[in-house]
Amino acid sequence: MTDEGPPPPHHSQARGEPLDGAVSAPAGGWTTATVAGLRRPIARAVELRLDVHDRIDHLPGQHYVVRLTAEDGYTAQRSYSVASAPDDPLVELFVERLDDGEVSTYLADVVEPGDELEVRGPIGGWFVWDGVTPALLVGGGSGVVPLVAMVRHARALGRLDLLRVAVSARTLAELPYADELVEAGALIALTREAHGIRPGARLTDMDLLPLWEPGQTAYVCGSAGFAESASQLLVGLGLPAASVRVERFGPSALELPKR
Ligand SMILES: Cc1cc2nc3c(=O)[nH]c(=O)nc-3n(C[C@H](O)[C@H](O)[C@H](O)COP(=O)(O)OP(=O)(O)OC[C@H]3O[C@@H](n4cnc5c(N)ncnc54)[C@H](O)[C@@H]3O)c2cc1C
Repeated sequence: MTDEGPPPPHHSQARGEPLDGAVSAPAGGWTTATVAGLRRPIARAVELRLDVHDRIDHLPGQHYVVRLTAEDGYTAQRSYSVASAPDDPLVELFVERLDDGEVSTYLADVVEPGDELEVRGPIGGWFVWDGVTPALLVGGGSGVVPLVAMVRHARALGRLDLLRVAVSARTLAELPYADELVEAGALIALTREAHGIRPGARLTDMDLLPLWEPGQTAYVCGSAGFAESASQLLVGLGLPAASVRVERFGPSALELPKR
């Protein structure tokens, strides 16, 4: 990920260096992981359940890097947020398949249970929920993945009351973890179809207003465009910019393949 300067709100650190206010988060080095389970819960995506060797427990919001190496030595690596809670014996990743994507197509089309993957993690010290601070979670598309880890952790702690959740996708069928998010009481904003009494439309400040409470930290995750507009909505509602943490999924100079 690259940052485009310091304007609010804060963006996560690609290499996980803590900023002021970051919790002390665990960090792991390169290791291997066995694909213990694989599902395709929605079209154009794969859920991988990884048995990470010598695993270091993560905090919700952290991610792993997956590195692929071809026979000629060519490597490509990409970041994937952890969807599982820390108490899950496996690390769950959810990968949206991009038709022209180098790594996501391999993970979605080629990887099979029993395969070994090279991974590094957990990574990230900023986009991390500490399990005690009230939080407003706002995710778009596969950007819901780290938020699902937060919801699962809160449920395990018996503290779902700490979280308010708003998620957006084009349709319910395209929303990762839709059933779990609905069950957790998330506001579901679909852009291409109605959901309940809410007509199909982009997420608005009026969607977020009832979820906002003083003292919350906001976690915004999704494509660069979604993250930008959602964080602007939150700041426009009056959230202090320093309380809005943003993780953007997208192409990154740090992730360019190397020969
Ligand atoms: C911290 C972090 C966590 C992430 N977590 C997840 C996750 O949980 N699940 C997940 O599916 N992805 C996640 N991503 C995105 C992921 O790292 C890859 O960028 C994505 O899988 C595409 O890689 P690729 O090799 O398939 O595509 P590439 O070969 O890199 O790119 C193919 C094409 O798609 C464009 N593109 C690249 N990434 C995206 C994107 N995210 N959205 C739209 N267009 C894109 C490129 O510009 C290019 O045109 C995360 C990214 C970061 C930085």
